Amino acid sequence: MVQVVLTGVSVAYKIGFTHDPLERVQGYLQDGYSRMHLISVSVSSLLAKFKEFGFALDIPISKIDVGYPKGLMPMIRPTDFYAHLAGLDKISLLYAEQDTQVLSKFWARFAVLEPWNTINDSFEAGTMVPERTIPLLLHGDEARSRKHLPMMVVNTHPIIGYGCKAYENWFSDAPLMKNQAGGVSLKGSVLATRFLHFVMPKKCYGPDSVFLDRMFDELAKDLARLQTEGIQVNGERWHLPIIAATGDWQFFAKLGRLTRCYTHVSKRSGQKTLNGICHLCCAGQANYPWEDFVDAPLWMPSVGTEEPWEQTPSLIRRLHCDSSNRATFFRPDFWHCLHLGAGKAFIASAVVEWLRVVPGCSDLQSPHYTWLTNRNEKLYCRCISETTMGFDSLQKLPSGGWQKASDTTLLMEFLEHFCECHSEVARGDAILHWVWVAATNINLSIRTLYQGGLWLDQHHGRTAAVCGLNFLKAYGHLVSLCLRADRDRFPVTPKFHMLHHLFLELKINSGKHSWALNMLGTSVQQDETFVGILGRHSRRVGPVHTALRSLQRYLAHAAEHLTPEFRQV
Ligand SMILES: [Zn+2]
Repeated sequence: MVQVVLTGVSVAYKIGFTHDPLERVQGYLQDGYSRMHLISVSVSSLLAKFKEFGFALDIPISKIDVGYPKGLMPMIRPTDFYAHLAGLDKISLLYAEQDTQVLSKFWARFAVLEPWNTINDSFEAGTMVPERTIPLLLHGDEARSRKHLPMMVVNTHPIIGYGCKAYENWFSDAPLMKNQAGGVSLKGSVLATRFLHFVMPKKCYGPDSVFLDRMFDELAKDLARLQTEGIQVNGERWHLPIIAATGDWQFFAKLGRLTRCYTHVSKRSGQKTLNGICHLCCAGQANYPWEDFVDAPLWMPSVGTEEPWEQTPSLIRRLHCDSSNRATFFRPDFWHCLHLGAGKAFIASAVVEWLRVVPGCSDLQSPHYTWLTNRNEKLYCRCISETTMGFDSLQKLPSGGWQKASDTTLLMEFLEHFCECHSEVARGDAILHWVWVAATNINLSIRTLYQGGLWLDQHHGRTAAVCGLNFLKAYGHLVSLCLRADRDRFPVTPKFHMLHHLFLELKINSGKHSWALNMLGTSVQQDETFVGILGRHSRRVGPVHTALRSLQRYLAHAAEHLTPEFRQV
């Protein structure tokens, strides 16, 4: 039971909630809070009241029997969620409130990129109509719940979005080109663009995650209904297929029970990995080295030859995917790979290498502060220091101690600026020269990707891909130079291999087709923010019904952003 406390004053009411037991609240009354009025309600009836007055989305929460002995698991079924949006006449939010031509354009370009995707058969057979079919993405990640325990959060969101700031600025004088490129989904409140389906605390995963698997299976069944039966929108049938799963590698490994993934990477130099490190190709297996960042790597012919699972995952069996390489359903995430992986490793090692010619971190501070002030930006990690760069001594491998991905973007741009300011020194030192080359290329690649929109024309696509590949090649030079100098710098992790896939694919697509899909379309920075919010929700509800209460809180929170006009205040 929850006690709702109303404190009445002559002209205004303050409404508050407390989890205190009734007896204690009555004690407050005896202590002199004479104008306090109490209404005691159960959570379910409170949610019903919230729904009645427009303070929560009126969507049913289904109870799924996954075998968890302590009860049923709650889920907001995708079919229920999207049917509710359609009922509110808000389905256009799923394609950034544009004309439905944006959908036909999407599918025409998608068919060129993925001719073997089974969804094309549905369009040809007439069972789905492109201008009434909205492409969605599935995302999952573990949030930090009570006592820092993980909690799986699974959501869907449209791939067509409102763009981002760099895209708006770049196309500000070219509305037709802006319209052609379309926007990625990086703008707007995450509660208005990401939609929750279930959360599951780790204690409920079951032995070998069997209950979590059943939950995913149930979700896959409902997503299959969404793509085949669809929903009714103003008397017409619309379909909402999931075209890819996004998230970090850990999520893919759980979802697909992958036999080849990053956990199989060799920990020592020369150690062989039997299974391979990548779900997309055979990299890491014998004769398929993955550390060579060249235009035609040896692993390239192995892409799509061998599936990375023993048993086909439920999602792949039930949903449309590229039949020529079904593993591409699990899209590598650019943001994790670069901003929280390769970029961090690069900056930390590059700064330490600069310390050979710049006496100490403090000498980087002054130009760094001036540069940040001129741009009106700030670092979350506050400064460049031994702690933030994560190095104890010049003999050890620096790890990069900051947590925010946006810091990586800023630090990479600062590094380029710093190299330009000390160009004479950089030109005279091979390692510092390649640091400069790598920083310049990756910054240009990132800027191009953010400017370009959801669909990159050949110019944008090629620039982003070639510069990205140049970064990897420069990094490869840095690795070998430092190895020769016997210094522990510039580590190579599987995230570099994923970037290699992403940039090579973009280069090939930009060379062959007029439009290539931007890798930022499937990157997850906004989803991470969404997962963070759900983590906070879960830490503020009781420990017994965490999953259900988190979903109920979400329905109330989402209503603020999705249906503010229905709130009866
Ligand atoms: Zn690979």
